[in-house]
Amino acid sequence: MNGSRFVSDHIRDLPRSGIRKFFDLVSSMEDVISLGVGEPDFTTPWTIRESGIYSIEKGHTAYTSNLGMPALRREICRYVEERYHASYDPGTECLVTVGVSEAVDLAFRALLNPGDEVIYPAPCYVSYPAEITMAYGVPVPVTARAENGFALLPEDVERAVTPRTRALLLNFPCNPTGAVMDRSGLEKIAAIVRKHDLAVLTDEIYSELDYSGRHCSIASLPGMAERTVFLHGFSKAFAMTGWRIGYACGPSELIGAMMKIHQYAIMCAPTVAQEAALEALRNGSAAREEMVESYRQRRDMFVAGLNRAGLQCRLPDGAFYAFPSIAGTGLSSEEFAEKLLESQHVAAVPGPAFGPGGEGFLRCCYATSSRELMEALRRINAFMESL
Ligand code: PLP
Repeated sequence: MNGSRFVSDHIRDLPRSGIRKFFDLVSSMEDVISLGVGEPDFTTPWTIRESGIYSIEKGHTAYTSNLGMPALRREICRYVEERYHASYDPGTECLVTVGVSEAVDLAFRALLNPGDEVIYPAPCYVSYPAEITMAYGVPVPVTARAENGFALLPEDVERAVTPRTRALLLNFPCNPTGAVMDRSGLEKIAAIVRKHDLAVLTDEIYSELDYSGRHCSIASLPGMAERTVFLHGFSKAFAMTGWRIGYACGPSELIGAMMKIHQYAIMCAPTVAQEAALEALRNGSAAREEMVESYRQRRDMFVAGLNRAGLQCRLPDGAFYAFPSIAGTGLSSEEFAEKLLESQHVAAVPGPAFGPGGEGFLRCCYATSSRELMEALRRINAFMESL
């Protein structure tokens, strides 16, 4: 069967994720320690799972409001105000989505006219350029460099702005670098955004995983809430990747536009998962904090081990990724990752999969057991000695 003639030009031209090829290789091997997948190793905390079970027992099997359950939206707005100091009306400025993934997709589709440009720091989450392209926008990566702690510099943003620039997309703490930006850095970026009257999307999915206490949401800065879509969800902080719940908060006109697409394409996020998310916000903070503390301990142990093995790695401030430099080895990131996988059965993702600025680096997710991390370090050490 060959249906390729039916695929639209727009989607045919979209490149496959750089991570995919690598994981095809991993899945064909045995005894692999994977530092590749960016997912918590915890099962969702019990009270959250239980509330999902209870929701089914109660027979809550129908659609919810398109925007999401009112109680969940109220709880989300309370959480966002308390934690991020940005205030939203649960009735008109909050939309519950199928993960942050859907919220990002909706935001671009609601914001962009064909040919509009979106600036974002790179290396970045693999989906961003594709999401922008699928919404007929133009991705404009701005390299965030290691020597600046992978922060976004205001002068680089200013240089990238053109008459077609529509929006700036931020993701701090960052996947893949673990970088966090503090208030003073973001204030300079916000001034540029206001000067050029740009919209901002801020993907806050790792914001609870901030070990520095420096993270600040750009949505909380003066004059920014009116132009910012705050995107967040439950996947990482509450170990709920499979439940597929995220949300967007922003100006009612933008949320209304996103809601139109969501209503036609999705209808509503899954009811059972919304009830579990409500429990996460009401009673999940102790479990969340325990998980964050556990990531912090593993970060300290793993990053120290990488440096001891000869891979220079700054201590990332957030998320659950280490982004060591492999530059001193004389290998490209792809060669390093392939040889490490073949010889030591350790899988990590080559930096270029995350776009410009990724060459010379490797992304290692440390959300795996300490025992596996120690074994991975032993193997990485052996690999470095063999070079
Ligand atoms: N945004 C970033 C930066 C991510 O790293 C991920 C997943 O890895 C997502 C969004 C997707 O999140 P969700 O599971 O809520 O769709």
